[in-house]
Amino acid sequence: MEERFYPSLIDILFRNPRKDAAQLRAENEKQFQYLLRHAYERVPYYRRLWDEAGISLGEIKSINDLSKLPMVDKETIVAAGNDALEQGVDPETMDTMSTSGTSGRAITMRRVIKEIRVVRRSYLRSLFKNGARPWHRNLTMASTWLSNKKGWFISKFAKTHHIFPKDSLDDQLKTLREFKTQNLMGQTGGLFLLARELLRRGETYPLNILAPTGATLMPQMRAALREAFCTEPRDLYGAVELGAISWQCKAGNYHVDADRMLVEIVDTEGKPVPVGETGQVVCTTLHGYSLPLIRYRLRDVASLSNETCSCGVKFPLMGPVHGRINDFLPTPTGELVSPHFLYHIFDHVGGSPVKEWRIIQHAPDRMTYEYVPEDNFNQAALEGGMDAIRERFGGNIDVKAVQVESVPMTPNGKRTCIVSELNPESIDGMRPWDKEAQAGMSEELAALSS
Ligand SMILES: [Zn+2]
Repeated sequence: MEERFYPSLIDILFRNPRKDAAQLRAENEKQFQYLLRHAYERVPYYRRLWDEAGISLGEIKSINDLSKLPMVDKETIVAAGNDALEQGVDPETMDTMSTSGTSGRAITMRRVIKEIRVVRRSYLRSLFKNGARPWHRNLTMASTWLSNKKGWFISKFAKTHHIFPKDSLDDQLKTLREFKTQNLMGQTGGLFLLARELLRRGETYPLNILAPTGATLMPQMRAALREAFCTEPRDLYGAVELGAISWQCKAGNYHVDADRMLVEIVDTEGKPVPVGETGQVVCTTLHGYSLPLIRYRLRDVASLSNETCSCGVKFPLMGPVHGRINDFLPTPTGELVSPHFLYHIFDHVGGSPVKEWRIIQHAPDRMTYEYVPEDNFNQAALEGGMDAIRERFGGNIDVKAVQVESVPMTPNGKRTCIVSELNPESIDGMRPWDKEAQAGMSEELAALSS
C-alpha cells in the first residue's frame, strides 16, 4: 500500500486553499480510493456493512459513486465499538474525543493523535484565514476536556487562555477584560450568553475576530454577538469527530473544508440533491484512517453552492446550516417545528422575560420550558411565550414552565437550548425518514427563507 495522505501544516494553511477545483478533485479521488481499500481491509465494521449491502469496491470507481455506499451515523459507529477502529492499532494508544449523543449524554470516540492534529490544524486554518495569529491574545470558550488537548506549539508559544461555560458570567467577563483578548472563539451557546450579559449591562467589548462553533448560529444569536463584540461573527460548522466541515471566510461565505472532507447533501433516501437545494449533510473524512467516517450522516440541514468567493480561498462554498434536525421538534401530528420558532417565542411581547432557557421535549405532546428570569421578568410575558408554543404544537399539549437557578450543561460541558428525550428510533421513525415529517420540514425551511 502507498503512503497515507496526511497533509502538512504548510499544505493546510497555504498550499491546499490555493488549489483549483480540478487539482483538488484529482487529489481527493486518490485519497478516496485509498481510504475505501483501507476501510475494507482494516476496519471490520465497513467490511461487514458493505458486504451485507452487496457492494463490491470495484463498483465505486470515483467520488461520483459515493452515494452507492450505505450511510453511517454516530449511533452505528459507537455501537460498533472497536470494530469501527483500524485493526492492529491499540485503542488504548488512541486519543479520545468527547461528543454528545442524540439524547444529550456524552459519548467517546477514539482516533490516533496524528489525525486529531490534522483536524486541529484545519480549525486553526479557519482562524488564520480570518486574520488570527499566534501572537494575538486568543481566548477560547472551551469544554473542560478540550482545554487539556492543546498542542505543544499552542501551549508554549501562543498567547491563549480559556474560559469555561460553567464559570459565572461575571468571572468570564473578568477574564475577558483582564486578559485583554483580541480574538474570541469557541462554543456558540456560551458566547451568545456572554454577549447577552454584556448587552444587558449596557456594555460592549470590541474584538478583532469572533469565531463561534459547535451549534447552529441562529440569526438572533448572530445579531447579539455582532452588537456585543462589535464585529461580524465568523461561524465554523463542524463536529468534534469530523473537525471543520465548512467555515466562514472574511467575505462571509462558508467554504467547505474541501482538502479533508467530502460533503454531500442528500434527500431522505440518501441520494444527492441538486446543488442549491437543501437536504441533510453527509460527510466523508479523507484522512481519518484510524476511525474512518465514510458517508457519515449528520442531522443537519444545509445546501451546496456553485458560487465562487473573492477572498482568495478556492474551496467550494455551501450555504449556512439551517439547524440540526435534532433541533426540529415534532408536533403530535408529525409536523416539524423549527428551532428558529423557539428562539423567537417572545418576539411579540417586546423583549425576552428570560435570561437563559432550554426546552425539553419528553414526548411530542409534553414539554418542559426551563428558564432563568430576566431582571425585569414578568409572568404575563412568560405565559404569552408558553401560549405561542402551545398554539404552534397544536393546542392540546402540556408545556410546563419551570424556573431554575441556571440552565444545566450537557455532560460534555456544552450549553444547549433544545433537548429531545425521544429515543433515536422514534426520532428516525418520525423525523427525516418519515415522508410526512420531511414534508413538514420543507415547509419550515420554505417559511424560514421567505
Ligand atoms: Zn471566501
